[in-house]
Amino acid sequence: MPTYLYQCPSCGRFEEEQSISQPALQHCPTCGEPVRRLITGGTGFIMKGRGAAGSHCESGSPCCGRETRCDRPPCGK
Ligand SMILES: [Zn+2]
Repeated sequence: MPTYLYQCPSCGRFEEEQSISQPALQHCPTCGEPVRRLITGGTGFIMKGRGAAGSHCESGSPCCGRETRCDRPPCGK
């Protein structure tokens, strides 16, 4: 299940696991503020142009071109 990144004006960024078939969140599950999903696009996966998934990640740096470190190797264990 992919993880999507959202920006809440009150809580900041948070990740939400959603299936591809689920619609994007409209409101923050914590505070109810309107949120927007970051990095929308074809699939909504959190990807940036640089690097392929699975490339090495430096400690403390964005993971595999994502905004945040993921919980999968090589970022997590
Ligand atoms: Zn919030």
